[in-house]
Amino acid sequence: MSERSTFFETKIEFLKGVGPQRGPLLNKELSIFTYGDLIQYYPFRHEDRSQFHYIQAISEELPAVQIKGRLKDWTVLGEGHKKRMVASFTDSTGSMELVWFQSIPWFEKVLRRNSEYVVYGKPIFFNGRYSITHPEIDPLTPENEKAGTWQPVYHLTEKLKKRFVDSRSIGRWVRTLLELSTPHIRETLPDWLLTKYRLMPKADALWSIHIPPSPAHLHQATRRLKFEELFYNQLRLIKSKILLQNEFPGQIFDQTDRTTVFHEKHMPFALTNAQHRVLQEIKEDFQKGKQMNRLLQGDVGSGKTIVAFIAMLMALDNDAQACLMAPTEILADQHFQGLKQYADLLGVTIAKLTGSTKKKERTVLHEALRDGSLHILVGTHALIEDEVQFQNLGLCVIDEQHRFGVAQRSRLWAKNERIHPHILVMTATPIPRTLAMTLYGDLDISVIDELPAGRKPIKTVHRYDAHRATIFGFLKDEIAKGRQVYIVYPLIEESEKMDLKDLTDGYESISRSFPDVPISILHGKMKPVDKEYEMGRFVKNETKIMVATTVIEVGVNVPNASVMVIENAERFGLSQLHQLRGRVGRGAEQSFCVLMTDFKLSKETRTRLDTMCRTNNGFEIAEVDLQLRGPGDLTGTQQSGIMDLLIADLAKDGEILKAARASAQAILEEDPELETPQHAAIRGHLDNMRQSETNWSRIS
Ligand code: ADP
Ligand code: MG
Repeated sequence: MSERSTFFETKIEFLKGVGPQRGPLLNKELSIFTYGDLIQYYPFRHEDRSQFHYIQAISEELPAVQIKGRLKDWTVLGEGHKKRMVASFTDSTGSMELVWFQSIPWFEKVLRRNSEYVVYGKPIFFNGRYSITHPEIDPLTPENEKAGTWQPVYHLTEKLKKRFVDSRSIGRWVRTLLELSTPHIRETLPDWLLTKYRLMPKADALWSIHIPPSPAHLHQATRRLKFEELFYNQLRLIKSKILLQNEFPGQIFDQTDRTTVFHEKHMPFALTNAQHRVLQEIKEDFQKGKQMNRLLQGDVGSGKTIVAFIAMLMALDNDAQACLMAPTEILADQHFQGLKQYADLLGVTIAKLTGSTKKKERTVLHEALRDGSLHILVGTHALIEDEVQFQNLGLCVIDEQHRFGVAQRSRLWAKNERIHPHILVMTATPIPRTLAMTLYGDLDISVIDELPAGRKPIKTVHRYDAHRATIFGFLKDEIAKGRQVYIVYPLIEESEKMDLKDLTDGYESISRSFPDVPISILHGKMKPVDKEYEMGRFVKNETKIMVATTVIEVGVNVPNASVMVIENAERFGLSQLHQLRGRVGRGAEQSFCVLMTDFKLSKETRTRLDTMCRTNNGFEIAEVDLQLRGPGDLTGTQQSGIMDLLIADLAKDGEILKAARASAQAILEEDPELETPQHAAIRGHLDNMRQSETNWSRIS
């Protein structure tokens, strides 16, 4: 390893001022183990210490002021919680008060009357005087007399504060470290990139992000470090994608007998342009002789299933088999029923495998898969089990990706040892482009961004609980017209018991309000057979209202259901609301979504509800969600590692990400292995990153 990495691997306790007492504290509280960790512990904001204010010129408008002056005298006033220490503080232009409510004995001990200090804090005007409560106060020294800096503020924990580690202690250690580090900091980006994007050199950026000479420097430092982070993030993703593409061959599917027949004779509707485009992308993948790893994004109802089916047919036309994996039994069943209609027309064999498939059936099924007489297998996780062996699996479709981990994806690969199956992952959770590039940078991405023609947009409204009677009246009318209704209750694990009670209470009150209407109830605590039974009744239109928890969230298709009422809508995230709403609007009728809430709502909740009422576009909703929540929560997947960004913010840094990605792409196209001398620095830095990650995994 290079000298550089050894230096930054130095344990933090060896830094002057930290020592063996505070070292472990920093390890535990802030995950700072090494010099490298500390130098990358970036402040989250800065305080303006670039100038001194005169007391005469203070105003309440100022968020904070820094004043150089003399502490005259103080008195302790009041009793109990009103007890306070009030000091008078003057400079050449006037005088003001400094007030402490806490740690009075300590301040009485350390402060010196008639001495010069620098104070900093938020000024308020009270009783004809300016004062600062709990100011930061330091004896005037030749150093702080100069001012001229923006002081970093770091995130801290309560425990650190109790042990007297504050932002300024960290700032001091960082400064010491920066001074020591300067000869060890190497540039990690090639010169031409620095020039092209006018990026600050690395060493300057590290200084400036902690101790910026000016706000402009801070801005440039931040931009540079974000670029670097996203550049390496993308470089690694694209590199592993190239590796995937080159490493694994894929079957070539160029025969199209049944596919053509299906297109010409049996296609139930005209495909949308977006569906055509995506099919073309898949078809091209199938000609390449490389394994396809493609993500298909499309809003609920955009028609992903037919695309998947046609892709499967292409596999079948070339003597390969196909499987489709869904996250729940209900969904697997719906896919099975839907695809079977098409399959039967074409003489294609299809079967379903789930956890509840009987042993005897399984044996038959396993046999048929192995001898190739079964063409398509639809199922749940049960598909992954080892005894499920295919004669020649050519395509695996995974529906609703966010329920499946990456590890499971690779277990599907192993279903064909000779030549890995092509993989098509379908998700109805639209992800903003910036996020998709980072989360799924190792997959090719296709998007269906268009709904089939003739769909009426769902009308969405927000109503308060107080208007329930009106809503129930509306539901009665819709049911009288022959429609069906979902009423959904939230269910989260921590409050499971109470939520279940909400649901059953709700069910009872609905039963009372709709005495003549058959009603289904569905929740996660029911046995699979009972769930299936209730769902079945609703699908067959035997029941008119489905009272349910979010188990109906994913993929369920009942075109006649045209009203969705979401109770306690404030408790759902945006993408979840959108998913739920997607259960209606599937048929020819006008559909409605009613978001029910209490009166008291936070600003963020209002934004969520307003967004839902304003648009049906999943990508637009995903953007808002990203802005509101940040990328961490949005995906529902634990794609750890990929998302560990220190400084870049995927919600805000889309432009930087694009530039970083384009640069990474260009470099890897020219030099995929990063072997040429001009890329030596990049390669060195990548190796260092890998090295410190392995070290890290040893620690944790
Ligand atoms: P999702 O993308 O949510 O999985 P589906 O594949 O379930 O959507 O399709 C939703 C409904 O739209 C289905 O009833 C399907 O038959 C229908 N559909 C799909 N594509 C078209 C199209 N091009 N024209 C008309 N209806 C379509
Ligand atoms: Mg679907």
